[in-house]
Amino acid sequence: MAEQEASGLQVLLRTLQSSSDRESILTILQLLGDLLSGGTDRRIRYMISKGGSEALLQTLVDTARTASPDYDILLPLFRLLAKVGLRGLGAVLGIGNTMVTKTDNGSAVMELTFKQRRAEDKKFGQKALELEALDVTLILARKNLCHSQNLLHCLWALRVFAASVTTAAMLGINGAMELLFKVITPYTQNRTRIIRAATEVLAALLKSKSNSRRAVNRGYVVGLLRLHQDWHSHDTANTYVLIRRGLLLCLKHIAALRSGREAFLAAQGMETLFSTTQNCLDDKSLEPVISIVLQILRQCYPKSPLPLVTASSAYAFPVPGSVTSDPPCVLTEEDFEDDGDEEVDKDSDSEDVKEEDDDLETDVNKLTSKPGPDRPEEELRQYEAMCLELSCSFEDLESKPGDDLSFEETQYANHHHIPTAASLKRHCLSKDQLSWGQEREDTGRTSLLSTVKMGRSSVHLASGKAPGMNPYQNAQSSGLGIDSSGSEIPDIQAFLNEDAWDIDAMSCPRMSASFSNSTRPRDATEVINKLLQTHPQHIPFHDPCLYMAKARRTRSVADFKMMAFPDLWGHRPPPSAQPMLERKCGIQRIKIFEDIRRLLQPSDIINKVVFSLDEPWPLQDTASDCLRFFSKFESGNLRKAIQVREFEYDLLVNADVNNTQHQQWFYFRVSGMRAAVPYRFNVINCEKPNSQFNYGMQPTLYSVKEALLGRPTWIRMGHEICYYKNHYHQSAAVTGGASGKCYYTLTFAVTFPHDEDVCYLAYHYPYTYSALMTHLDILEKSVNPKQVYFRQEVLCQTLGGNSCPLVTITAMPESKSADHVEQFRQRPYQVITARVHPGESNASWVMKGTLEFLVSSDPVARLLRENFIFKIIPMLNPDGVINGNHRCSLRGEDLNRQWLSPRAHLQPTIYHAKGLLYYLSSIGRSPVVFCDFHGHSQKKNVFLYGCSIKETLWQAESTVGTSTLVEDVSYRTLPKILDKLAPAFTMSSCSFLVEKSRASTARVVVWREMGVSRSYTMESSYCGCNQGPYQGLQFGTSELEEMGAMFCLGLLILELKSVSCSHHLLTRAATLLNAEEEVLDHYLQRCSSSSSSITSELDDEPACLEEIDYSTDSSSDQEGSFSELDRQIQECAFNKEEGDEEEEGPGQGRKASP
Ligand SMILES: [Zn+2]
Repeated sequence: MAEQEASGLQVLLRTLQSSSDRESILTILQLLGDLLSGGTDRRIRYMISKGGSEALLQTLVDTARTASPDYDILLPLFRLLAKVGLRGLGAVLGIGNTMVTKTDNGSAVMELTFKQRRAEDKKFGQKALELEALDVTLILARKNLCHSQNLLHCLWALRVFAASVTTAAMLGINGAMELLFKVITPYTQNRTRIIRAATEVLAALLKSKSNSRRAVNRGYVVGLLRLHQDWHSHDTANTYVLIRRGLLLCLKHIAALRSGREAFLAAQGMETLFSTTQNCLDDKSLEPVISIVLQILRQCYPKSPLPLVTASSAYAFPVPGSVTSDPPCVLTEEDFEDDGDEEVDKDSDSEDVKEEDDDLETDVNKLTSKPGPDRPEEELRQYEAMCLELSCSFEDLESKPGDDLSFEETQYANHHHIPTAASLKRHCLSKDQLSWGQEREDTGRTSLLSTVKMGRSSVHLASGKAPGMNPYQNAQSSGLGIDSSGSEIPDIQAFLNEDAWDIDAMSCPRMSASFSNSTRPRDATEVINKLLQTHPQHIPFHDPCLYMAKARRTRSVADFKMMAFPDLWGHRPPPSAQPMLERKCGIQRIKIFEDIRRLLQPSDIINKVVFSLDEPWPLQDTASDCLRFFSKFESGNLRKAIQVREFEYDLLVNADVNNTQHQQWFYFRVSGMRAAVPYRFNVINCEKPNSQFNYGMQPTLYSVKEALLGRPTWIRMGHEICYYKNHYHQSAAVTGGASGKCYYTLTFAVTFPHDEDVCYLAYHYPYTYSALMTHLDILEKSVNPKQVYFRQEVLCQTLGGNSCPLVTITAMPESKSADHVEQFRQRPYQVITARVHPGESNASWVMKGTLEFLVSSDPVARLLRENFIFKIIPMLNPDGVINGNHRCSLRGEDLNRQWLSPRAHLQPTIYHAKGLLYYLSSIGRSPVVFCDFHGHSQKKNVFLYGCSIKETLWQAESTVGTSTLVEDVSYRTLPKILDKLAPAFTMSSCSFLVEKSRASTARVVVWREMGVSRSYTMESSYCGCNQGPYQGLQFGTSELEEMGAMFCLGLLILELKSVSCSHHLLTRAATLLNAEEEVLDHYLQRCSSSSSSITSELDDEPACLEEIDYSTDSSSDQEGSFSELDRQIQECAFNKEEGDEEEEGPGQGRKASP
């Protein structure tokens, strides 16, 4: 702004304050009014900076205090004050991101979200208070109770003053609420503008806790409820929705206090609001009213503890050392129970926003120094035995291995298996067992490179399938008892009568005795064999009999006797990827009203516990008509099931062993269902504040009948899905944390495909420890030992007594010649780990893809084997996986926070994984890449987290020492390659920041202590992709396995791009490249040409349209009413003839006509 203009403004303001000449004041006000109505917010902020607020407030006080105040001056003054005050507040709040959300009627609206920022005039309320403008405005309002226009202007000013909580409290003390109650009347068609403005001022005042307390004490809750009812019943045309909303906002703010909630309940508030809204839930014009009603009802729904005897896990296990349960990591509800009515009012704008950057490590010493080993050097010797490849002499190696072609093609046919989603190729165990393969055509060999070539455009989307459609529907139409080849299947029902798959029926007579004696062979192996004969199924790299043998050796805390059928029988990916579920409009609202109905209309509520780990087994009487639940099998973790209504069940999942929390993962069996009936399931003790279930994710379901009909498939299933905060609360005493905590409900409806089926439901595709052990054995048998060096050994024993496997994969030396053996030993290492977090089964599917690819006969896999030694620990937390944990080990601790100083007897798998890496480092053989596979519950796609000193310091805006720091940027190469290569991967979610809270994770410790610059965490979404060729699709196991294979290809290309890449490898790759029509070259070029610009994390989910957490004060009501207030003022300035009879229907804002 020009300096001249600036001084002009200052002169105007000075004149305004000093002048007593009516005409000059009027002229100046007119000028200021014109100036501000035409310009942007910048102009207003500029005026504030030049003392505009003070000048206007002072003029107000001076004018109002004269014997007969001049309203010709006061009215424009009030308008200006409201405008300036409004903008001052706008600056306080700061306008954050603008985003487009969809309203219930489908139209897109722009919604402003507010982010607290430094204010330009956050003291507006304070200034008004100091200059005594509050008092004079209140006095003027009292004087003008019968003069609509003057009163309206006073109310506008009060509305702006009240936006600061401290001034609101002061207004309350000075009797503002009593004044407003004189204005707010029962239903009338007169003075509705005034009434509306008054309800808005009152609502703003009630944001102050002292005002709310006063309102409770004076019995305003009853009065407000009566007013609401009166307006609601008379305003049948919904003309005065905003008045009704204002009244409800008053109640909502009062309900923030415990005494307010009590008063509300005592006044039958729940019943009143519930019944008044029941018949108008679908009325779009009432949206502003219903959303507030819902918030009040949720807020006032009496809190109760979870229906569990204890928050501690149902499973306890004696472990060495003292068990230290993590402090609750979830958000705590500050205003809960102990919100104490004595709490002092404080301005929210005075608090500094805590930046997430606080977590960044800014200590350059910590970032750059390399700590010494955490153990004596001699202890590292033990890991020599795990690296036999470094000492093996291959004396018995034939001189020309690998030329036994017939041998390879028969016995090791599965070499050609490439786990890719885009490829239709599926592995078969042998050629005479192809019967299952009719759904997916076998198109012969497909190399990974050719998959890449066509990959990004060849997604196997189901054609013509409606989103959310039950993939079993085709199956149903083909009729029960008919398999995919059309022949009848006998006795499915007989097999289903097996209540579960007994691990060792022979050794457990008590259990077998309880089964029917008719068709059931006594040995489980026999059952399986018979089933396999009648229902041939061949699933790549799976074998039910082997699984059973492995499961017998798996040791669980609860000593599981049963196997889950899907794990035993195996899973085959569905023929097509499933789209994300489209969220039904207002679904959360419907579910919450159903929840509230339990309290208010309990006539159909059953509330019967039908399954509980805390009760002696079996709890259920099989005769009753309810669903039967079970979870005592590997990775199962349902703790309790309560039948709420005929077709609705509340479910509670078990906390991690020796812990009181981490409920997220679930896996259980359900039976006794009716087909075609939607059953509602509510997992009521979830802990995370939001979930991908709100953004298109569905749980997974496996039907035993479907499996026996030839479709042994986990599919995404469930509709009417949402995730929201519920009314359960656990006190601090129970959780052992510093404060109590609240819970979230995941609700979904399932329509089962068959009557009397046995189905399994899970958070994500299960992958058990026994499945891994089975898989490793089959992999080992599948390789040609003359070509592939595949060794499986035990890294260590877990606390639970299970072996933690370590796999070594490389190529056999070309011959036993010294040169070849030397080349073999000198191959660089790659180290990959997974599943430290047991609930992240997606990580295991990615790992499965990696392992299968690495042993395959794909040319890329061959090159990788010939050039690297892969050390793989596919499951860092077997005990957690086995016992159905989500996050922790048997000691109840997060093993990915133990890497700094693991102890051999407390965290054996971490101790030895780190030891192995130490050993490699000590002999100068640190891995080229270290990567730990994880699952991510809040984001979509697949991405890497890495470590960079410079990016961390930049992000933290710390300049200390950055200029002299030299950092190799090669940590960015692999993610860039994967971004080009893997359909599910996206660079845009990758991050290379070193956080203090992650100092003890594998990624940071391997980077810092072993000096591995390419040390990563790879995160795969539980949900699916919102970019790339898989955009809009949920992940199936194929897509996850494909990611594992692509990761390997990424490692090869990384090597080809590195300076150390051998001539030999480049030559070999070039051959491959020609054979593959230069795809590789294509990608290499694209990778090298991509810029190194920093991509930031922009892919966080948008705020959910429906409030997940009702206790957080959404600023949207405030913002809405402010812009509305602004509109009114604007309108009034140009239209002086305003009467009181105008309509106030929503969305009917008049355009200001200049
Ligand atoms: Zn994880």
